[in-house]
Amino acid sequence: MIVVMKKGATKEQIEHMIRRVEELGLKAHPIYGTERTVIAAIGEKRDEHRASLESGAGVAEVVPILAPYKVASREVKPEPTVVRAGSLSVGNCHLGMIAGPCSVESAEQTLQTARAVKAAGATALRGGAFKPRTSPYSFQGLKEEGLKILAAAREETGLAVVTEVISEGDVPLVAGYADVLQIGARNMQNYRLLEAVGEAGKPVLLKRGASATLDELLLAAEYILNAGNPQVMLCERGIRTFETHTRFTLALSAVPYLHDRTHLPVVVDPSHGTGHTSLVAPMAAAAVAAGADGLIVEVHPDPETALSDGYQSLTFEEFEGLMELVRRVAEAVGKQIE
Ligand code: PEP
Ligand code: MN
Repeated sequence: MIVVMKKGATKEQIEHMIRRVEELGLKAHPIYGTERTVIAAIGEKRDEHRASLESGAGVAEVVPILAPYKVASREVKPEPTVVRAGSLSVGNCHLGMIAGPCSVESAEQTLQTARAVKAAGATALRGGAFKPRTSPYSFQGLKEEGLKILAAAREETGLAVVTEVISEGDVPLVAGYADVLQIGARNMQNYRLLEAVGEAGKPVLLKRGASATLDELLLAAEYILNAGNPQVMLCERGIRTFETHTRFTLALSAVPYLHDRTHLPVVVDPSHGTGHTSLVAPMAAAAVAAGADGLIVEVHPDPETALSDGYQSLTFEEFEGLMELVRRVAEAVGKQIE
């Protein structure tokens, strides 16, 4: 249920209603909007208390939340959420450009890439230090050494660092270095990990599982939001279909669909979404045209020798070309890269 307070409801009335919701055994999640405050009442038996809450002082109405996800839904918070992490802003009119290697391979490779993507206009650096690899025989990442390299790249370039955390036990370590914690497609439904990043106090980039529905993605986001972290970005990174020409099928209709259902910003990953260098820039442009709030793109100094995902990584020059194209589309749809 959503307890919608009247315009001009007092602080005392709002606090009283939060207490009332909690007394009923429900979790109160207040959202202070510019116009009015709403309190999402989350819990199993939520609808039975509707009438009793409706009589509270300062309450305009109590309405059921129809979507299976609650805190993520537009019904609870109509205005778009803007996620901020250092140099990165994602949401509303801010288009975040996250770029960098799939994996942190060395200080030289990461620093060179950070400098190049920054010069081309990226607003954050990506790079995996803990890699979730399909094969246990593939490169697993430099782990803490990789995190240190990312921190050094941030120090030099000022770019916020986006990096993946693959296990609950690693959350404190990764959160100690990262500006944004990435939850990869393979871990979208690792609920204990979602709760742990919810408690870590750092913005989260939550990638859609390759076989997950959009409702499942939103319910996964709900775990993070419920743990008290409102800074969540959703990421469409392609799903499994019968198509074999591309590594995954980049479902761009997810962008306007999610914008309709949730206030959370939506980032698109055209690198994993296509799996082919030549398709990355056109799909990046298409994502921005569809309303994406951010892009995450793999860039490598020498894609041919990359330790992971070289076939979908852009050279520095190709990334400059992507930025030029994206800048023009962003301007056309009223978004700023900043
Ligand atoms: C990545 O970003 O390098 C990655 C592993 O992505 P995904 O989880 O979408 O496969
Ligand atoms: Mn990758």
